[in-house]
Amino acid sequence: MMRQYELVERVAAYNPQVDEDLLNRAYVYAMQKHGSQKRDSGDPYFSHPLEVAAILTDLKLDDASVAVGLLHDTIEDTSATRDEISAVFGERIAKLVDGLTKIKQLDLLSREARQAENLRKLLLAVSDDVRVLLVKLADRLHNMRTIEFVKPEKRGRIAEETMEIYAPLAGRMGMQGLRDELEDCAFRVLNPDAYETITEKLAELSEQTDRAVETIMTDLTARLSDGGLKAEIKGRQKRPHSIFSKMQRKSIGFEQLSDIFGFRVLVETCDDCYAALGIVHTAWPMVPGRFKDYISTPKQNEYRSLHTTIIGPEKQRAELQIRTHDMDALAEYGIAAHPLYKDEVIGDHDLLARESKAYAWLRQTVEHIAQGDAPEEFLEHTKLELFQDQVFCFTPKGRLIALPRGATAIDFAYAVHTDVGDTCIGAKVNGKLTPLIQPLENGDEVEIVRSEAQRPPPAWESIVVTGKARAAIRRATRSHVREQYSGLGGHILQRAFETAGREYRQDLLTSILGTFSHTDVGDLLAAVGRGDIAADAVIKAIYPDFTTDRKQGRTAWRPEEGWFAAARASLKFKLPGANKKTNGEALPLRGLDQNMPVRFSPEGGAVPGDRIVGIMTPGEGVTIFPIQSPSLIAFEDEPDRWIDVRWDIDAESREQYPTRIHVSALNEPGSLAAIATIIGGSDANIDNLRMLRRAPDFTEMEIDLEVWDLKHLNRIVQDLRSKSIISNAVRVNG
Ligand code: MN
Repeated sequence: MMRQYELVERVAAYNPQVDEDLLNRAYVYAMQKHGSQKRDSGDPYFSHPLEVAAILTDLKLDDASVAVGLLHDTIEDTSATRDEISAVFGERIAKLVDGLTKIKQLDLLSREARQAENLRKLLLAVSDDVRVLLVKLADRLHNMRTIEFVKPEKRGRIAEETMEIYAPLAGRMGMQGLRDELEDCAFRVLNPDAYETITEKLAELSEQTDRAVETIMTDLTARLSDGGLKAEIKGRQKRPHSIFSKMQRKSIGFEQLSDIFGFRVLVETCDDCYAALGIVHTAWPMVPGRFKDYISTPKQNEYRSLHTTIIGPEKQRAELQIRTHDMDALAEYGIAAHPLYKDEVIGDHDLLARESKAYAWLRQTVEHIAQGDAPEEFLEHTKLELFQDQVFCFTPKGRLIALPRGATAIDFAYAVHTDVGDTCIGAKVNGKLTPLIQPLENGDEVEIVRSEAQRPPPAWESIVVTGKARAAIRRATRSHVREQYSGLGGHILQRAFETAGREYRQDLLTSILGTFSHTDVGDLLAAVGRGDIAADAVIKAIYPDFTTDRKQGRTAWRPEEGWFAAARASLKFKLPGANKKTNGEALPLRGLDQNMPVRFSPEGGAVPGDRIVGIMTPGEGVTIFPIQSPSLIAFEDEPDRWIDVRWDIDAESREQYPTRIHVSALNEPGSLAAIATIIGGSDANIDNLRMLRRAPDFTEMEIDLEVWDLKHLNRIVQDLRSKSIISNAVRVNG
């Protein structure tokens, strides 16, 4: 076991100002508190905190961290209390040890809740002080190194947790070495066969190539030095787990991995990198297609390096990474943060700005940590901003869903499962119904409200921030549009056949699919619905004797004539909610997709009494416009989108409808009140009132009203016009 003075010496090696007294006291205190406790291995328990402290010195951490490493299990496992530690070591140390204790207590929670809870608490704990996390990682590393002494039934759980939580956290912290080792230890437990196979193969391979690698390394060193380059060369062998995940990711065998052995060449300047590359390529043949210049074109995560693969004297491949010491530091410490951004769109200016900020922070933190010249206050006040671009949310069952910042409940739903996203109609955040588009926050518990009848509205595509959600919404929209068109197509064909006096059956269409180069009846119907195929052409394909005096093609679409007009006339429009006695008939529209959503044009909607028309927008549904609406001009060339609708208002219906008027009034005291009185007195509601323009004498305003019907609206407009303070009142048609 490491002696007291040995530990102090380890710290003193990188920190001459070491607080010897603190370390000595912590050493003695922890040793006494753990007393005769034993680990599963039979070793004295104190050997564990001591090893944890030693790992922290490897990371060149500050005195407080090392002391906390020694003390980290005392509150949980011995008679020590937080108050006592505070009294002996001060509140600062007590707080850190307490953070570790909290995390440890969470290990005992139930299996389902444990992981999520663990990470949530971990994050909360470390947001106070990043050192809690650093000590926890060192603690976990030592536990993983000695996991063979743990009861077999407990090993899997610990290894899983390490793989899922602690190794990625180490990665995000930029501690690549720690991450690699945690992963390898966990991999060995979780997949012992694969671990063994890969380790054996690595050993075999190393036997075969060791000498050759040695030769290349010596040779390379000499050549670079001859070329006047000051270079440091490191041999490099991949870790079993990273080989395993690469094999899985690329579905390849061990033998196909070409970069198991490699070198890293570290030089002084950027120019040196290219000079070194030239020397390497002159000395050995390179493998075509393997050269990558990440210096001129850095990776997303700012990783910079030259990569090349050469063929050595004995035909073995070796991968070389050539970079400066600076680039190397960033690669080791900074690269790990990049999974934070995987899901977001690249090229977004904000994102890039945030990204480089996160990197600057990460790099600085980790450099401080690594170099050990961190002033105490630096670590103490460091918030774990590594996670600033990510939010951690939870399902009601405690499953953790990590999302990029700005993600909404819709993203959450899609992250849980595509089906959940597609059927999502609402969300309860922390138990309260919350707008779907509201960005989620750290620790939110999100429950998705679902309806099987739901389809994701296309507009969601611009709200969500995750690629998964966006792709799924696009997919759902595409298939919905096709469904709508094929519904419309079927309807059109039925009418057209009727008008032509021919029998119409869907199965007849199967025989003529080839004529129109389709393989699916649904596709053919959708093509008719879109207007790509004329209904007459379909009739003709089935009944070759069919003739028409009308020209084929788009003339058949002229809305005012023939079967199409008949088809449109048959559509009966019921306002949603207008008729409470729906007799179980849920459809606002007959003859079309039952689920087609209907809405009023957002500007100056129609009121009963207006002649109205519906415009079908694939993927959105039908929008109702008053026939005089100027917005309709935009659809003049698309008669196939027009749908005749009519009011079906119940006489007893007491529903009011939104509409909009434009009023110009004299700037006189009380004119606004007069307007409000007229409108209110006539039993209409004012929803909103906006000042459009305020001239010295007149004010122009726009008023959103709710009225019973057109008669009601006209009466209000007339009443307003009759007042002397009002110069004009007109209805606005959206
Ligand atoms: Mn421990």
